[in-house]
Amino acid sequence: MAEAANFIEQIIDADLAAGNVTAVQTRFPPEPNGYLHIGHAKSMFVNFGTAEKYGGKCNLFFDDTNPSKEKTEFVEAIRRDISWLGYRWEKEVYASDFFEKIYGYAEQLIAEGKAFVCDLSAEEIKNTRGTLTEAGEDSPYKTRSVEENLKLFREMRAGKYRDGEKCLRAKIDMASPNLNLRDPVIYRILRAEHHRTGNKWCVYPMYDFAHPICDYLQGVTHSLCTLEFEDHRPLYDWVGINLGFAPKPRQIEFARLNVTNLVMSKRYLKKLVEDGYVHGWDDPRMPTLTGLRNRGVPAEAIRDFCARAGVAKANSECEIGYFEAVIRDYLNKNAPRAMAVTEPLKLTITNYEGSEEIDFEINQTDENAGTRKISFGKTLYIERSDFSLDPPPKYHRLKIGGYARLKNAYIVRCDEAVTENGEVTEIKCTYFPESRSGADTSGIKAKGVLHWVNAETCVSAVLKQYSHLLKDAEYAGQDFSERMNENSERVFEVKAEPYLLQAAEDTAFQLMRTGYYKTCREGENLCLSEIVSLKDNFNK
Ligand code: ATP
Ligand code: MG
Repeated sequence: MAEAANFIEQIIDADLAAGNVTAVQTRFPPEPNGYLHIGHAKSMFVNFGTAEKYGGKCNLFFDDTNPSKEKTEFVEAIRRDISWLGYRWEKEVYASDFFEKIYGYAEQLIAEGKAFVCDLSAEEIKNTRGTLTEAGEDSPYKTRSVEENLKLFREMRAGKYRDGEKCLRAKIDMASPNLNLRDPVIYRILRAEHHRTGNKWCVYPMYDFAHPICDYLQGVTHSLCTLEFEDHRPLYDWVGINLGFAPKPRQIEFARLNVTNLVMSKRYLKKLVEDGYVHGWDDPRMPTLTGLRNRGVPAEAIRDFCARAGVAKANSECEIGYFEAVIRDYLNKNAPRAMAVTEPLKLTITNYEGSEEIDFEINQTDENAGTRKISFGKTLYIERSDFSLDPPPKYHRLKIGGYARLKNAYIVRCDEAVTENGEVTEIKCTYFPESRSGADTSGIKAKGVLHWVNAETCVSAVLKQYSHLLKDAEYAGQDFSERMNENSERVFEVKAEPYLLQAAEDTAFQLMRTGYYKTCREGENLCLSEIVSLKDNFNK
């Protein structure tokens, strides 16, 4: 079934129909000042996804006009994350590739009397900008001649002035109701080493000036960005019109992805790393793409989540539980099953001797998945919580005299509990040979199905469980430090099937009745690291 076009696609359809464009070109524009997060996955979904839908192209555009915060390390991480998500960019482009051309366009504006060199300080510019209800004041330098402006701008580039001593401003309108049009600064003097151009430049274009130029020079037809740039669109258009761009790229804004319990701004994420709230950018609790990858979240699930969250014109917030449901949905279909016991209680079958291999269903949601052999024996481990001396009504797990099925194996009846200092240390059961799973002729009814491991063959493993970094569901405001969940990583020692030790690292499993986990190693030891819990325990 064809999906209805979203509002961006409707605009593109109209542009194609009117002949304004003949092919679609977009760009994904990260600033290489940090790691990408799940919000960027949304931007990629929109930029790469839209281009793909129209048989067009999407560039990877590094917006590197802010040299003091940008690093090559981030460039490499961004490339890796995009590829991991499964997107392919047409060209890799940097704003810094265009510094010379952008500079040329600035001279063009000056030559046409549309920009001037201003000596006011940043503070003075701010103070004369006016307010939402009052017009600003013209700079006393606005009347400089074209010749003087050109001379001063060239001197700025040549390094004649101190940082911040002068800047270049567009000559627009100090009374505009849009503050971004009140003679905005378009170039600043800044001595900072750039990760690509080194010390070649000491003047750098401002984002609002560079971005429309870079879009145009790359042949971008539709510049898709988030809503906070809506107020900047008049300036985007002013630059395009005054520099005579044809065809002029069209900027379209869409809503950011916000997810409850997730800190989603690079600045905050950086603080989490720097202040030691997490182990690093790739900590499995981080909403960064590298963190989600390390967590074991499949790229397909992230893309699916972005698709289902939709492309909207108004900001809203998505429940983290929804993201988790999408991950679970994917893993339910794709992750093989295995068993591990998190809080082991010894179960001895008094009428069983020896051991046998039984068929274990790899994934009951996938009829082609088949079975594998697992070892069953006289002594097993089950979960401590699957036995009760004092069971509540309708307790379908084991109790004295009660029956339950051991997953894919036999029905057992619990006869006796061994206690030491009031604590149950072992339970003794009887099994029913004719109750074997798949060939049950016993006629015994057992409602509960318990997971288990063979105590003789199982291995010890470290199991890691996570909860959200933020305690409450509120979206991260100014200060998250008081909302941090102190106990968001929990580590247990568990008993697991030996099969898990043989599985390749980073394989996702559904540990039956426990959750979705991926395998990893800590030295020689098996580690099971939580991807997502089994049930939605969020919306309680
Ligand atoms: P942050 O505020 O997290 O630092 P940013 O907007 O500064 O993010 P950029 O590197 O500039 O990060 O972002 C690249 C692109 O990704 C931009 O077009 C930006 O609008 C988009 N983007 C960033 N966060 C989100 C989000 N939560 N939802 C959708 N798009 C986003
Ligand atoms: Mg940004």
